[in-house]
Amino acid sequence: MNGNCRRKLLRVMAFGPALTFSTASGTGLAAQKREEPEPLIQPSEQNPAHYIARAKDLADTSIKLGDGTGYGAVLVKNGLIVGEGRNRIYSLNDPTAHSEIDAIRDACRRLTTPTLEGCEIFCSARPCQMCDTACYWAKLKRIHYASAKSEIISVVPHYSRC
Ligand SMILES: [Zn+2]
Repeated sequence: MNGNCRRKLLRVMAFGPALTFSTASGTGLAAQKREEPEPLIQPSEQNPAHYIARAKDLADTSIKLGDGTGYGAVLVKNGLIVGEGRNRIYSLNDPTAHSEIDAIRDACRRLTTPTLEGCEIFCSARPCQMCDTACYWAKLKRIHYASAKSEIISVVPHYSRC
C-alpha cells in the first residue's frame, strides 16, 4: 500500500474480519448526510400525550416492518417535532440503532447541529442506559416516556455507565 492509499483507507480491527472504510468523498457518512430527510408528521395538538402517541406509532411501524421489538421516539423543540426514530436494529444490523438514538441522529441532521439544547424527547417506553446517556450527551432538556400504567414519566437526562 502506497502512502496515497494509506491516507484514503482506514483499517479497523474488530472482533471478526478487518473492516475497511473509504474516506473518499461521496461514500460513507459524508454521503448519508446529503440525503434529503422526509417531512415530519406534526401532531394535531402540541401536548405530551400526542407526542407519545406519535412515538407509539413509530414503535408499531418497527413491528410491522420486522424490526423486532417496537420502540419509537420523537424529539420536540418549541412544540414542533424536529426528529423521530424507531427501533431499526435488524434492518440496519446495528445493535445501537435504538429509537432514541435514531431520533437524536435525525434531529441533529435536520437541525444541522451536533447538540440539541432546548429539545425534549418523547419515548414509547423507558430508555435504556445507552439511550439515557445519549440524551445526556445530546444535551436534551428532558426525557418523557410512557409507563406501563399509561402515565407519562418525565426525567432529566443524567450520565450513566456505558
Ligand atoms: Zn436504548
